[in-house]
Amino acid sequence: QDSGRVFNFAAGPATLPASVLKQAQADLYNWRGCGMSLMEVSHRGKEFLSVIQNAESALRSLMRIPDEYAVLFLQGGATTQFSSAPLNLCNSNDSADYVVTGSWSDKAFKEGQKYCNAKVVWNGKAAKYTGLPSQGDLSLTPGAKFLHICANETIHGVEFKDYPTPQGETLLIADMSSNFCSKPVDVSKFSLIYAGAQKNIGPSGVTIVIVRKDLLGSAQPITPVMLDYKIHADNNSLFNTPPCFGIYICGLVFDDLLANGGLEAAEKRNIEKAKLLYDAIDGSNAFFKCPVDKAVRSLMNVPFTMATPELEAEFIKEAAGQGMVQLKGHRSVGGIRASIYNAMPKAGVEKLVALMKAFQARHTS
Ligand code: PLP
Repeated sequence: QDSGRVFNFAAGPATLPASVLKQAQADLYNWRGCGMSLMEVSHRGKEFLSVIQNAESALRSLMRIPDEYAVLFLQGGATTQFSSAPLNLCNSNDSADYVVTGSWSDKAFKEGQKYCNAKVVWNGKAAKYTGLPSQGDLSLTPGAKFLHICANETIHGVEFKDYPTPQGETLLIADMSSNFCSKPVDVSKFSLIYAGAQKNIGPSGVTIVIVRKDLLGSAQPITPVMLDYKIHADNNSLFNTPPCFGIYICGLVFDDLLANGGLEAAEKRNIEKAKLLYDAIDGSNAFFKCPVDKAVRSLMNVPFTMATPELEAEFIKEAAGQGMVQLKGHRSVGGIRASIYNAMPKAGVEKLVALMKAFQARHTS
């Protein structure tokens, strides 16, 4: 790690690739000789148009997004998509199924209830969101307009390895905020994928929507213009002033991922990092414990606990002293959470594991 930089284990906004930050720093004052930074140029000028077009085409190649899908660069975070998704894809009296696997899918369901006949088809709350359903566990509603899942629950650390299969004409929708671009995804299985940028791909504010084009144009009449996918698709994400600088950073991250072997290689790196950490937890004789079912443990967010909150606080403080920051678990669940997104170097995880071993040795007699 460069001097002055720490290993940032935050769940989001999260760490970005050092090479991208350096490139952005070099570009900031005078972007490619145009005499202005990208924050100052017109969003309709040729400079920014080339940026957004490159970002879109890089993302399309990275995820192998079929032409039948629109790629939108929006604002408002993934939270806005909790409303946009039902507003665009169903009528107010349509049924829609939600799989509730943690705090984020629960929030999506609660927002969805305002705009459609939303129903929970599986709820992991009783088991403290430590597992995921298999297909047979879902009580799917015949004729439901869509089935909504959260691909990776950032707070609880559960991640779908195989996605549920909706029945009949039901559309599959996924919130991929916290594992977007962390591994290959078969986009054609989904009707809509959305993600806030601030974990794997860029600054908060930018929100990516990948939606099947044939589903555009039937938003509910009350849909605010800013939430209507068709408006944004027809205007190539330039209906209003987009988050230009953020989109530029996302483009740099996509280029960086492409240059480093694409999503297959990213997944390989992520599996390797996650294994280091889960092995350390599982091999600690229960000094550290991860409550999540082994089969569905997240490659991105690794929650774990120790015997007492005092011991956890001591560990977090010691880690911070060694330049490993933001390890405190979410306020709703406590404990420790290490978020190890794409841009977390393997060296960061190795350093964390070394501290875990040393800390344990010191606290066991
Ligand atoms: N969905 C998931 C899985 C998240 O992790 C988050 C934020 O952490 C959100 C939705 C909400 O995203 P935003 O803050 O961009 O609205």
